[in-house]
Amino acid sequence: MKRIRMLLLALLLPVGAFAEQSEWEYPLAPEIIKDPSQYITLSNRNVLLDSHYIPNDLVTASVRRAVGTGKMQLRKAANEAIVAMFDAASEAGYSLYLKSAYRAYSTQKTMYYNRLQKLGRDDGLVSFPGASDHQTGLGVDILNLEWTYKDGMNEKFASTAEAQWMEAHCHEFGFILRYMSDKEEITMIKFEPWHFRYVGVEVATYIMEKHISLEEFTQEWQDYLAQYEKNGGNFNELLRERARMNDPTVVDHADDGEEELSIFY
Ligand SMILES: [Zn+2]
Repeated sequence: MKRIRMLLLALLLPVGAFAEQSEWEYPLAPEIIKDPSQYITLSNRNVLLDSHYIPNDLVTASVRRAVGTGKMQLRKAANEAIVAMFDAASEAGYSLYLKSAYRAYSTQKTMYYNRLQKLGRDDGLVSFPGASDHQTGLGVDILNLEWTYKDGMNEKFASTAEAQWMEAHCHEFGFILRYMSDKEEITMIKFEPWHFRYVGVEVATYIMEKHISLEEFTQEWQDYLAQYEKNGGNFNELLRERARMNDPTVVDHADDGEEELSIFY
């Protein structure tokens, strides 16, 4: 019996010792899913942001603003991305105007209850406090000149050349069309052809090519991750392993050739 057990151990140990991390087959890298910068954070009516959540890297938005708007703020990466997008639009012959950017929880709360009072109902155009993409500091409303003079925004903006250019190119700068026309039931927000959300170029390209909402994307990667761990994968260990592989101070022993040779011979 003891011998059998030892034999089993001998068979099993090397396998265990050299077991490799489960294969990560999701189309996006684990580091993107880990999302330390919180670029893929979801906020909606079901997933509310904390009333105290304020991004810690807000900067003044440095692009052309719509008439009647004051100074606006965005997270640093989103600001860099919007500058690049506005520049590219200009080169293509379109002038874009920033209408709205970061919105504090308290501002959103005021806006929501004002609209509720005015209409007597939630019309799905102003988000519930904590549910707004604008509180992430990554959501923006962008218009063309004509629409900056209009009283409100509606889905007709989608037929403008600027809206069409943005829908086609936003992902190149890391933005997605956050509230798509055929995703209203999922996002619980009406089609907003002016509202873009920064998520980073890789995720934006994936989402726009697949034509899915941020809600569907979130569900998808969360399902994948759960399945990955269920199949024996260890997500945090995978991240550590990848970090070690990418850290040149850990693996590069090219200069230690002699020492290594002495070990082998
Ligand atoms: Zn918006």
